[in-house]
Amino acid sequence: MNQVNSKNFDVIIAGAGPAGATAAMQLGNSKLKVAVIEKEAFPRDKICGDALSADVLNQLKLIGSGILNEFKNFEHKQKIKNLSLIGSKENELKIELLDPEIEGATAKRIDFDTFLFNQLKKYSNIEVFENHKIIEVTTHENYIEITTSQNRFKGAFVLAADGANSVVKSKLVGKNFNPNNFSAGLRQYFENVEFPTTKETIELHFLKGTLPGYLWVFPLPNNQANVGIGMLSAQVRRKKINLKNHFSRLIKEHPQLKNRFKNAKPLESVKGFNLPLGNKKVKCSGNRFLLLGDAAHLIDPFSGEGIANAIRSGRVAADHVLQAFYKNRFDTDFNKAYDKEIYRRMWSELRVNSFLLRLMNYPRVFNFLLKKASNNDSIRMVLISSLQNVNMDKQLRKPSFYWKLLFG
Ligand SMILES: Cc1cc2nc3c(=O)[nH]c(=O)nc-3n(C[C@H](O)[C@H](O)[C@H](O)COP(=O)(O)OP(=O)(O)OC[C@H]3O[C@@H](n4cnc5c(N)ncnc54)[C@H](O)[C@@H]3O)c2cc1C
Repeated sequence: MNQVNSKNFDVIIAGAGPAGATAAMQLGNSKLKVAVIEKEAFPRDKICGDALSADVLNQLKLIGSGILNEFKNFEHKQKIKNLSLIGSKENELKIELLDPEIEGATAKRIDFDTFLFNQLKKYSNIEVFENHKIIEVTTHENYIEITTSQNRFKGAFVLAADGANSVVKSKLVGKNFNPNNFSAGLRQYFENVEFPTTKETIELHFLKGTLPGYLWVFPLPNNQANVGIGMLSAQVRRKKINLKNHFSRLIKEHPQLKNRFKNAKPLESVKGFNLPLGNKKVKCSGNRFLLLGDAAHLIDPFSGEGIANAIRSGRVAADHVLQAFYKNRFDTDFNKAYDKEIYRRMWSELRVNSFLLRLMNYPRVFNFLLKKASNNDSIRMVLISSLQNVNMDKQLRKPSFYWKLLFG
């Protein structure tokens, strides 16, 4: 390593995905000197389903600085107006997106993340370091130090937004892989997949042998599609499933899918990555650091959606950092307020969706619910809210809700 003296910053953000980029944007134009350290060079790929829910667009609106309007003109996206949940008995539940003002979309992460990353160029107090892989983190009395493949950085605060395999987290909190809190995910891009009706629908197929989890078919621009599968890691282990083989077999042989892939051409080999699920509260902060997005296990356990919460955590983290500098407090006790705020904003949805994840362990019950949802408003509401991040807390506290859920 060809090291020079440490570079000094107020805040060091590890990772320039949605969580890191958003936290940086929210600190843009502040008086703080911010470094964003990223191991790749943009544009870079990220294995994902590429679905941007209405909640993601809502988060963009809340970031401000006209970013939602810029996204409206972003050319690499496919508008999405419907979700289709398809059970193993071909029972299908179509859900229209709730807010006609804010549509959902799909966009390849290589394009979407570059769109976010490019926003950072607007701010003179943000310096970006690409091709810097973080390899070490050490906490000192008055600062925290990050060592990368190319340099050393000192700061008062580190925001760990370096994703599911966060090095910052493993150095500061430790490694803990519990297969009940992770899903295994695979993605393969295709061209020429057939869509039964409109390309404005994303499909989740809850198939036999795939629960808890689902196979997805998401349309993309240019006649392409993101097709993949996500399944609870504990189940993959317990049943000794070879997920790649299982996925390829479903596409080739499953009656619901095979005809639609007859003329489809794979554009890459099947690629995999882990999803850290938010079905358990974790420690999100400590002395001079906060964990964001996937590093903080904020992925929706039912839908596998993590981009919106990653952005949300970026916004919460930036607010907390401003408070910390104002009060000159970076210690563990002060940072507990961040954990509190993260779970105040996200736990009610994560909890409901953890329940839905557990329900998927009982395929018959899950299929029954899916079927019933077509004519039961309460069940529809649970599913819509879980997929669109609508706060259900008030509803869930009413006994009448459960009555309608079971007997309505
Ligand atoms: C198969 C799959 C399908 C998914 N589908 C969806 C979906 O359709 N919709 C949805 O909303 N969510 C989906 N998710 C979840 C979503 O991808 C994540 O929740 C989201 O990317 C989290 O954002 P983040 O910024 O926390 O982390 P990331 O997006 O992972 O960004 C982390 C950044 O840190 C960088 N980094 C990592 N290590 C280092 C290091 N050592 N040094 C420096 N930089 C580093 C990475 O290069 C990356 O740029 C899916 C995930 C998977 C695996």
